[in-house]
Amino acid sequence: MPTRILSSVLLLAALLLPAAAGAQPALRTRHVFLIIADGLRWQEVFTGADERLINADNGVDDPEALRSAYWRPTPEARREALMPFLWKTAVPQGQIYGNLLKSSDAHITNPWRVSYPGYSETFCGYPSDEIKNNAKIMNPETTVFEWLNNKPAFSGRVAAFGAWDTYPFIFNTDRSHLPVDSAVGPLDFGRTSPVIDLWNTARAETPYRWGSTCFDSMVFRPALEWIRLNSPRLVFLGLGETDEWAHEGNYDQYLHAARRVDTYLAALWNFIQSSPEYKDSTSIILLCDHGRGGDAPLTTPPAALPALDGVQPQQWRDHGGRIAGAQQIWIAIWGPDTPPLRERADLPAVTQSQVAATLAALLGEDYPAAQPRAAQPIGDAIKAPADATRTP
Ligand SMILES: [Zn+2]
Repeated sequence: MPTRILSSVLLLAALLLPAAAGAQPALRTRHVFLIIADGLRWQEVFTGADERLINADNGVDDPEALRSAYWRPTPEARREALMPFLWKTAVPQGQIYGNLLKSSDAHITNPWRVSYPGYSETFCGYPSDEIKNNAKIMNPETTVFEWLNNKPAFSGRVAAFGAWDTYPFIFNTDRSHLPVDSAVGPLDFGRTSPVIDLWNTARAETPYRWGSTCFDSMVFRPALEWIRLNSPRLVFLGLGETDEWAHEGNYDQYLHAARRVDTYLAALWNFIQSSPEYKDSTSIILLCDHGRGGDAPLTTPPAALPALDGVQPQQWRDHGGRIAGAQQIWIAIWGPDTPPLRERADLPAVTQSQVAATLAALLGEDYPAAQPRAAQPIGDAIKAPADATRTP
């Protein structure tokens, strides 16, 4: 074939290739934030404060003050009082799964119902055979974060920030070399600033109430500054206070921590809206690593959920393999590629193991093709690829 014709054929092929790929048009998402509120129950997320727990038996110092902050006559009003950004801004433009009262089931597939197995399932897309508790061992599984960071388009643009000293193990930083700020010690990678320096000083000079977990402000505020300075494409944010206060049996502090999670979501969203790079190109996935015990929330008439039959409300403090209901989670997703179906109801169950592939799919990557153990994406959460570019 003469060179001139060959080059014309190559040119034609080059022109046709994007058209062929156009059958699967690019989504608008260029950045994903994955956020986990540790052990925050679906009961509070969907129905707000539980009146039966607003008392001294559940660690509440000032029941009247807590009631005036979070108690409202209806579940809808209660959840908006607890998480106003989630319910007024995020859900109306996205989706949330897991309200058992509306036949929407979101659950973990690992049997352990504790943190490390839940994070590993979320990050890897399947329950690990090796990770059965919170022991600090380097994760033998590869996370979707490591998988993406090994691709040129994401290399060096992936980071994790979490209020627990086990995250470097979950991400296997020995092998992955991912930058993971576990908030125990300074944030010391990437571009920094006087704001981050100040938070590092605060970390060094503030007691750690729970030893291995810091207060959420200590991880979220410097992380937000770091995101502004370093423009990552994929970020994990782990907030831990909801779990810690629950274990202490402080229902007031547990609710306040949930309220702060919502404050951080609003702050992150405000940053996204103010940033030409992130605005209209960022998707957010928000969930918990595991549920907790406790029966169905108060409703009129009372709801009977088979899985929670006989469970006492006081069991909200605990989670683990033997705690009924602790397998139930919730998952919220919003961004430019997620249809605004809002609070989902009457649909098949979704699982924590679907989060990794959903995250990758939003970024245009087929994770289960590379990791066959990974569950498929949550299909409803991503716009069907047709409408954007199909030509008549
Ligand atoms: Zn816990």
